[in-house]
Amino acid sequence: MRFDIITIFPDIFDSYLNESLIKRGIAKKIIRVKAHNLRDYSRDRHNKVDDRPYGGGPGMVLAVESIYRAVKAISSKLKVRSSTKRRIILFSTRGKKLDAKTAKRLSKYDSLILICGRYEGVDERVAKHIADEEISIGDYVLNGGELAAMVLMETVSRFLPGFLGKMESLEEIKGSYAAYTRPAEFVPKKGAKSWRVPKILMSGHHGKIKEFRK
Ligand code: SAH
Repeated sequence: MRFDIITIFPDIFDSYLNESLIKRGIAKKIIRVKAHNLRDYSRDRHNKVDDRPYGGGPGMVLAVESIYRAVKAISSKLKVRSSTKRRIILFSTRGKKLDAKTAKRLSKYDSLILICGRYEGVDERVAKHIADEEISIGDYVLNGGELAAMVLMETVSRFLPGFLGKMESLEEIKGSYAAYTRPAEFVPKKGAKSWRVPKILMSGHHGKIKEFRK
């Protein structure tokens, strides 16, 4: 799966992409991630990509033209041309709330183009004419879509075969249960009552452990 992110802050992704499972997923060629600087697609002399909102109000709005040019340039380089294999997503506070079901659905595409808004948001014509869907990662307002892009990439990647060391780690399969590790008893401070691991987990009784986890 290929993720192409359109952002005015591409460097935000550097450290994230260079750690842990995401790094390994890239090395194993399960995912490919590229952050594109929206400013590279501006036709303005100063690489301006935003403008004042029509009708007034505070802040600036990311304009439609550079985003259109960026999406077009990225799409034309993709091997997957068919729109059934490619999805263009705009991050927006008004979008459909991201959940596991949506992530699983998105994991079936070969290419996701992620458009990150900033400032007051993005010219509505991007939602209307360019993006296939709008996604929000929760009912709160972020400064931009970059964190949303990381959240989406991470949760979508978990559904890709080979991304997780063990497919059983996929919460959807095993369900999420309370986990414990050593020590069996932890004494937070001298004389305090110890915090214990439920005995059943140390019983070696697989049936009962399964039941407990359920
Ligand atoms: N004025 C806008 C907020 C803009 S925040 C409003 O009230 O809707 C700037 C950008 O950050 C948005 O365009 C969007 O791309 C991103 N963003 C902010 N909160 C988000 C969220 N909860 N989920 C996904 N993207 C978000």
